[in-house]
Amino acid sequence: MYEFEYHRATSLDDAAGRLGDADAKLVAGGMTLIPTLKLRLAKPSQLVDLGAIPALKGISEDGDAVVIGAMTRHAEVNRSAVVKRAIPALAAMAGMIGDPAVRNRGTIGGSIANNDPAADYPAAVVALNAAVRTNKREIAADDFFTGLFETALGDGEIVTGVRFPKVQAANYQKFRNPASRYAIVGVFVARSAGGVRVAVTGAGACVFRVPEMEATLARSFTADAIKDIQIKEDELNSDIHASAEYRAHLVNVMARRAVAACA
Ligand SMILES: Cc1cc2nc3c(=O)[nH]c(=O)nc-3n(C[C@H](O)[C@H](O)[C@H](O)COP(=O)(O)OP(=O)(O)OC[C@H]3O[C@@H](n4cnc5c(N)ncnc54)[C@H](O)[C@@H]3O)c2cc1C
Repeated sequence: MYEFEYHRATSLDDAAGRLGDADAKLVAGGMTLIPTLKLRLAKPSQLVDLGAIPALKGISEDGDAVVIGAMTRHAEVNRSAVVKRAIPALAAMAGMIGDPAVRNRGTIGGSIANNDPAADYPAAVVALNAAVRTNKREIAADDFFTGLFETALGDGEIVTGVRFPKVQAANYQKFRNPASRYAIVGVFVARSAGGVRVAVTGAGACVFRVPEMEATLARSFTADAIKDIQIKEDELNSDIHASAEYRAHLVNVMARRAVAACA
């Protein structure tokens, strides 16, 4: 690691103030950031720890939605009685992330700010049409994830929480990498009064929706209805774990399983 200063922020203003230094970096659970530093792939002058800011913690019900603070760990979302009752698919998804060590350290804020192409939360945030709250504004899910490890967050912007609207039915199906447990392909399907949303992670450079499946499922919410909808493999990932062709096939299989599980 390169040398850096460590600051444990006590409030959002304190943390935001520290980010005035262009080389300062936020740290949540450190699950991605610490290995990056160890490999000397980043050289921040200062690490600003978000772990002692009460406003970033906790899970609450807010009318027709569930609000999860940015520093909430995956294990907490998985165990939460509120999430299990309001959006059980979200609690189940959090329980599929990595291993117990990752789930006890990793946070929802760190996961979505990092926007790993194979991470699970981006699929949940997009399918559930959530809103990402920051210290400056609220960003709609469709506008938040902008590309490979890229988000709409600006300089000095801190994710404070995510607001997930309750839906009529939802399910997440993940075909995981047996070593890392990241998604080779993960498909989150959600049905609400506003329609059906299908979000795919792991298959491309960034989470994406499948409009043809959404329109078909809005007319007929059955696994059989989408059996012939194949997504184009042109822009899908192809690596030692799975070819683009295989990933395209998996999107259909996982989507059908998710719809069947919703029913
Ligand atoms: C072995 C292993 C297996 C994993 N498997 C999975 C998996 O199966 N599925 C999955 O989805 N993920 C997986 N992960 C990722 C993990 O779930 C973490 O969510 C992810 O690594 C981010 O970690 P973190 O929350 O500790 O954030 P950190 O590592 O602390 O931060 C990550 C990045 O986000 C920024 N950041 C953190 N918090 C905020 C905030 N509130 N506002 C703005 N920016 C912020 C940091 O500056 C940094 O750039 C895995 C990780 C490991 C190490």
